[in-house]
Amino acid sequence: MATVGMVLAVAGTLIQREIVDYRPILIAAAIGAMIGGSMAIFMPMTKMPERIALSHAFGALAAGLVGTAEYYALSTSLSTFTAAALMFEVLLGFLTFTGSLMAFGKLQGILPSRPSVFPGQNMVNLALFTAAVLTAVRLILAPTSWLFLVLISLSLVFGVLLVVPIGGADMPTVISLLNSYAGLSGAAMGFVLGNKALIIAGALDGASGFLLSIIMSRAMNRSFRNVLFGAFGQVDVAAGATGESEQRPVHAAAPDEAAMLLESAQDVIIVPGYGMAVAQAQHRIKELADALVRNGTQVRYAIHPVAGRMPGHMNVLLAEADVPYDQIVDMDEINRDFAQTDVALVIGANDVTNPAARTQTDSPIYGMPILDVSAARTIMVIKRGMSPGFSGVENELYHLDKTLMLFGDAKNVATDVLRELPRTTTPVGARPTDRTDE
Ligand code: NDP
Repeated sequence: MATVGMVLAVAGTLIQREIVDYRPILIAAAIGAMIGGSMAIFMPMTKMPERIALSHAFGALAAGLVGTAEYYALSTSLSTFTAAALMFEVLLGFLTFTGSLMAFGKLQGILPSRPSVFPGQNMVNLALFTAAVLTAVRLILAPTSWLFLVLISLSLVFGVLLVVPIGGADMPTVISLLNSYAGLSGAAMGFVLGNKALIIAGALDGASGFLLSIIMSRAMNRSFRNVLFGAFGQVDVAAGATGESEQRPVHAAAPDEAAMLLESAQDVIIVPGYGMAVAQAQHRIKELADALVRNGTQVRYAIHPVAGRMPGHMNVLLAEADVPYDQIVDMDEINRDFAQTDVALVIGANDVTNPAARTQTDSPIYGMPILDVSAARTIMVIKRGMSPGFSGVENELYHLDKTLMLFGDAKNVATDVLRELPRTTTPVGARPTDRTDE
């Protein structure tokens, strides 16, 4: 839908009578298409939050620049209402531009992911924002060229300071909020240009981005206010990757052992997480699940709302692998069934299964709802090593007596387990022969 919308918008713009020279427009369109095309082709699914952050940065920059062009073209003839909408557009557009670039930098590891905090930060931010609003009001009352540049500078700096105190772990929520700002900036641009489609699309984007941020905060059990004011960052540092787990004993298991247990299980719940996305293991996991179903085992997939790195990440991957919808069950529904489950098979999920979220009050994930994996009779975890997940917190689950660790890339391990399943469960022709990513 967005693609169709953009095609219509670009085509509509190109037939405007005011266009005096198509050449710069075509050059800009070619550069934009090259950047967008390369991002779509080369950025993997796991880099979706980074890609979205960049898209917002570009969209917001465009809104800010359109506002700037309109201001210099029309500043003396603007009505008070249009001038106010224009100031709103420019302020939000430029702050979203630098804010989104900061978010991209933190996610990509170009900037430190931990929050950069200094004393009196919130006061400085408030002062900066107040200065920007006062400048905007002065510009509405009396248009002044140089003061407009001050407004742009204040907005750019405010965007940076708004995002630096927020920890990398909260970036996707922040990106969703910046999406909402970019939408509101677009809606304001619609008022300036007298374009109703922009007002509607911008308002829709603004509202949905804002609601998504709140939903994500809830699913991660963060107070929305804390995300905005960077409180989560402190715990990010305190919790850190302890590395202690390296020294504590775990039960490592081989694929044949896992296959034997799975073959005798009546009920298996598969818990996918970010590692399944990294390994692109969803097709192999589906083959494994199909083999178990043929053996008479009940197989279901438990979906945590923030498993992976974007809302709905696991649903998208499982749909891609044609997993039947009736096997996919949301956390709230499936949690009560773990206690009657023979095997919980965790595929590259970590934080969303971590019991620390229930027991350790000082943990950064304390209070986050989790999948009740620890209640299952046997737990199997496929992951490459003992690294912590996104939040950097060690997972007690791996050290339980009933937990078997299957170390390795999720796709390779699933292939090995599938190969070890007896022939009754894996018909000839469906047996995995390849380990494509080796
Ligand atoms: P986690 O990030 O907690 O853990 C992923 C695990 O996958 C790691 O421990 C890693 O361990 C393992 N892994 C990585 N690559 C592979 C591989 N190739 N094969 C096998 N295992 C692999 O993921 P979860 O899905 O459990 O949790 C999601 C986290 O992301 C939560 O903290 C959530 O709050 C956060 N988040 C989610 C968002 C969303 O919208 N979904 C948005 C923002 C944040 P090892 O390196 O040892 O293999």
